[in-house]
Amino acid sequence: MKLSQLTTYLETLAPLAYQEDYDNAGLIVGHPDQDITQALISLDCTEAVVDEAIATHCQVIISHHPIVFKGLKKFNGKTYVERVVEKAIRHNIAIYAIHTNLDNMLEGVNARICETLRLTNCHILAPKQNILKKLVTYVPATHADQVRNALFVAGAGHIGNYTETSFNSEGTGTFKGGEDSNPYVGEPGVRHAENEIKIETVYPVNLESKVIMALILAHPYEEVAYDLFPLTNQHQQIGSGMAGELTEPTDAKSFLYTVKTKMNAAVIRHTELTGKPIKKVAVCGGAGGFLLKQAIAAGADIFITADYKYHEFFDAEGKIIIADIGHYESEQFTQQLLYDKLHAKFPAVSLKLTVVNTNPVRYFM
Ligand SMILES: [Zn+2]
Repeated sequence: MKLSQLTTYLETLAPLAYQEDYDNAGLIVGHPDQDITQALISLDCTEAVVDEAIATHCQVIISHHPIVFKGLKKFNGKTYVERVVEKAIRHNIAIYAIHTNLDNMLEGVNARICETLRLTNCHILAPKQNILKKLVTYVPATHADQVRNALFVAGAGHIGNYTETSFNSEGTGTFKGGEDSNPYVGEPGVRHAENEIKIETVYPVNLESKVIMALILAHPYEEVAYDLFPLTNQHQQIGSGMAGELTEPTDAKSFLYTVKTKMNAAVIRHTELTGKPIKKVAVCGGAGGFLLKQAIAAGADIFITADYKYHEFFDAEGKIIIADIGHYESEQFTQQLLYDKLHAKFPAVSLKLTVVNTNPVRYFM
């Protein structure tokens, strides 16, 4: 199959519009019309991973972390980033990154951590803002159903566990067609009044072109009147971090032991134990320090994440236990998550999980 089929699916799973500003998720190396029969899945795209792709005849590497974050100015093999890109291009191997856009999904990296730690009632810790918009359009009453249906099929009207949400009010629309017009009702040059329905509905920004296309195709008018409004509402199902509950409160030491075992962490760096049992748990794969306030506000007893610096540990202030389990350790299940999703969708593509341990951190114990 074509590489574009794979990337289109990955972008339905985790739309590129949901990645953070600093990120570079998407197709980094390769052409959409490249043929794909085998794919290699990894957390990082290192030289060793490219070598593995060459040796195992994989035409694409799907990596959680992008190999390129910033513009590259020279390609002379001086840094590992240049060498990886050069080698991949020379061997016709595509590199695709699915990073913070996957972190931000309800069924993404953090959901896997919650699942592994058997947390229930999970919710997003910091729901993302500015990704919802509102569409308002005016449709002759006779065609309101047709237009509404088309908008819903295109993905508009989705709020939490509800689909097909809209608000509809009745009114009168007026228009007068010019000389070259071909109005659906009325005559050119004569003002016409039509009984219309004003349809209001929401949609996520990544679906905008699809929703507008559906509107224009389903609407009977030659010129379709519609308004698009940015919303500042949070999207409850997209955002960073996650919090959930243990079925039974557990003392902190035994919970840390469970985390260490289930997350294969060689060591956990943590703040002083608060003395309270652990019931609510906040998690964020990778560097999650920016979510501490939200973890405390959510009432979490412990925050499991990575990349904490010395001074940042002080911010726990006895309100919560910060537990740094390591960046690689916190995201290790991402590879299996991608494998499961891709395998279910493309059973004919041979998928491999990298055998390279790309964790750049070693522990001397
Ligand atoms: Zn990461």
